[in-house]
Amino acid sequence: MNKADKIDKQDAGKIAVPEAEWRKKLTPEQFNVTRKHSTERAFSHPYHQEKRAGMYHCVCCGAPLFSSETKYDSGTGWPSFYAPAGKEAVSEHKDGSFFMRRTEIRCAKCEAHLGHVFPDGPEPTGARYCINGVALQLDPDEQGGKSST
Ligand SMILES: [Zn+2]
Repeated sequence: MNKADKIDKQDAGKIAVPEAEWRKKLTPEQFNVTRKHSTERAFSHPYHQEKRAGMYHCVCCGAPLFSSETKYDSGTGWPSFYAPAGKEAVSEHKDGSFFMRRTEIRCAKCEAHLGHVFPDGPEPTGARYCINGVALQLDPDEQGGKSST
């Protein structure tokens, strides 16, 4: 009776936005990093030395990605974290295009390129999430946290 079991399921929780839309929404630098897998220059973004407490959100879709609680100064000139805000927050992709094997980190929701993760971070995870500052948007705690949306 019910043969319509085949529902075209969009990947739940994911959003698909055409490139032209991102281009309108983002600055050229944000677009190049998050949609074109570019890398900002080291020490070019103030977030590498940002000390405020808060949550770093995806600059593209607003998903919470990294908490200031896991941020540390890696000395590399890029914002560095030893863990993402949640297991589901980011996705990992093997990047074999260089001699050195790297693991690319993307926003799990909108596939924005964020940076890479390396196995030379501090305890407790030993991971170093090396993230482009332009891919992030800090929502500082002192603004009260919960707004209506
Ligand atoms: Zn995103």
